[in-house]
Amino acid sequence: MNRFLLSPLLGLLALGASAQYADMRVGLLRNTSTRQVMVMGDGGPLTIWADGKQVGELASTDGMVLKATPGGIEARSLMLVINAGKSLVFRSPAGRGFRMRSVAPKTPEHAYPGSLELGLVNGSFRLVATVPLEEYVGGVVQAEAGKEQWMEYYKLQAVSCRTYALANKRRHAADGYEVCDGTHCQVFHGRNRVDSIRQAVALTRDLVVVDSDIQLIHATFHSNCGGETMNAEDVWSKSEPYLVSTLDTFCLHEPHAVWEKSVPRAKWLGYLRKLGVNTDDSEVVASVTSHVPECRELYLANIRPAVPLTQVRNDFHLRSAYFSIRPEGDMVVLRGRGFGHGVGLCQEGAMNMARKGYGYADILHHYFANVHLVKLQNLDFFRNDGM
Ligand SMILES: [Zn+2]
Ligand SMILES: [Zn+2]
Repeated sequence: MNRFLLSPLLGLLALGASAQYADMRVGLLRNTSTRQVMVMGDGGPLTIWADGKQVGELASTDGMVLKATPGGIEARSLMLVINAGKSLVFRSPAGRGFRMRSVAPKTPEHAYPGSLELGLVNGSFRLVATVPLEEYVGGVVQAEAGKEQWMEYYKLQAVSCRTYALANKRRHAADGYEVCDGTHCQVFHGRNRVDSIRQAVALTRDLVVVDSDIQLIHATFHSNCGGETMNAEDVWSKSEPYLVSTLDTFCLHEPHAVWEKSVPRAKWLGYLRKLGVNTDDSEVVASVTSHVPECRELYLANIRPAVPLTQVRNDFHLRSAYFSIRPEGDMVVLRGRGFGHGVGLCQEGAMNMARKGYGYADILHHYFANVHLVKLQNLDFFRNDGM
């Protein structure tokens, strides 16, 4: 197919896809049993819809208190009294969005883009914000990456958060929305207020990360890999072609590069004995109390039976499963590298790469193997191509 024919076709595909991906339905305050909330327009009026019918308009200067009651939703403002049986929706005709906080229990007020839907589940509110995808991405990057990062790091976060959102649209299907606003999915406290984040989101607009089968990737990350990332299957027993071990020098001098923990020798040997290790064998004891790995290993000190280092990490609450062991009196000293599970993107390494001037695509390719950046409007096109 020549270029001339291809471009109008891509245009049509883009139209179809952008409608499909345009909004995210985000469940707010999922872990709070909210029975009373305060809602107001964010610099503009809100139209109010009770059980599907428009019943009024909340002026930009007015605020509304809503209560969940056994009979439905009671809403009251300076000017209005409204009762709804099942649902109440606030829309912002001027596109300014809304502000909301929970009154009981108390939560901080946030400004959200999009519209708000209140329903009732077991006597409490189910709060769902319908937010344009790009605004959702900006809010998540602000909440998760924080202020004062480098532009390329923000761009990296933007494509990762966008990819996660679209890959997880079914995660809360049973709850009546797509993603929640907490750490279970991606933290979202409403509209982003940081200019450089807004710019990073705009400059990566619609871009997502896919693997060689054009599937959205699980952009897994951790704090610091200690110099070498892990294969996914060595940590979670499921492999992904893009989550493969790679050497990383960018994180070696970052804040979480090394750690140390002392464990009483008797406790250490007692623990290994319980796992079937023969601690009466002096050679075995010498190995498990003095060992320096040259690179990441999967099992403790090459002894039998094999003791997975991820298990040791969990049982001793270690920062990572990448450490050396040396004896010191009646203690053994574990000296480790990195922080976290070690799979996928190493955050401190990625921040350092951004600081050193690497582009966000270079950073992405450094930590994820054989991935591609594509416009989400073109996903269906690439997937159907050649079928
Ligand atoms: Zn969630
Ligand atoms: Zn690293």
